[in-house]
Amino acid sequence: MAIRCDFCTSKARYLQRHSGAKFCGRCFTKSLRRRVWRDVGRNRMISDSRFAIFAVSGGKDSVACLDIVAPLGRVRRTQMAVLTVDEGIRGYREEGIKRARKAARASDLEFHTASFKREFGADLDSIVDRLGSPKRACTYCGVLRRWILNRHARDLGADRLITGHNLDDEAESALLNLIRGDPARLARSGPNYILSHEKLVPRVKPLRGIPGKETLLYDIFNRLDVHLGSCPYAGFDFRNQVRSFLNQVEEDRPTSKSSFLSTVDRLSAQFARLYAGGRLVECSRCGEPTVGGECKACQLLRSVGLL
Ligand code: SF4
Ligand code: ZN
Repeated sequence: MAIRCDFCTSKARYLQRHSGAKFCGRCFTKSLRRRVWRDVGRNRMISDSRFAIFAVSGGKDSVACLDIVAPLGRVRRTQMAVLTVDEGIRGYREEGIKRARKAARASDLEFHTASFKREFGADLDSIVDRLGSPKRACTYCGVLRRWILNRHARDLGADRLITGHNLDDEAESALLNLIRGDPARLARSGPNYILSHEKLVPRVKPLRGIPGKETLLYDIFNRLDVHLGSCPYAGFDFRNQVRSFLNQVEEDRPTSKSSFLSTVDRLSAQFARLYAGGRLVECSRCGEPTVGGECKACQLLRSVGLL
């Protein structure tokens, strides 16, 4: 006999391990949307926003985030648009960009692109060539992408940048910050981020409480077209080891990631108070917000001869 959904009579398609609840696709979709909408409202992510931009890569999380949050913009009359960054990774990024464009069209939002090549004069592939090894590709990619997203979101007039980071991403970042032993960074990592600057577009993460497995299920149940390919540089990042470790712990003890993240959030709130005096200033070269001197993006560009 088929196992039934706990909330209707349809066939169950997902057993949520930590709660024991069984869902059909429709009831799962409703429940996930409700959880995300509640977090968006509770944390006032877009309540006073006039213009919010979604950073969409075309992957499973950013496309799900757009599908779930865009209707809220229509209800609240918040203007919204989509921004995609083309890092320039041959054989990989093109597919994601196609999906991002399609997702923007499905939500009836304007689609904007920015690229490493146009902005820095070199794509990620040629930066990796200059480095002579793919080992630090993710460091360059992450820092330069954040720089572009902030600059373009601001130039477009946005007052929020909505990203698709999920619970797994955030737990990994939290553990990485602890391992790096950088308390100022930890202070900036949680929801209590207090260092601010008028040129920094505030970022919000509606999927912060949702495991990556559930965003993928949302995509599948709602037939969203997402790019599931792997980046050729992904295997070299230290984050992979942290991810494997956390996945192993979660496998043995479901909800470990969410309880770890909420503990780190409480810690980061304390650190945020300690570092309340810290102020962001403008980078001495590009003018983007930074903790002091030349920003990380400019330092990295300089290190590969692009400045
Ligand atoms: Fe960039 Fe690394 Fe992600 Fe590839 S895996 S897109 S290099 S951050
Ligand atoms: Zn700079």
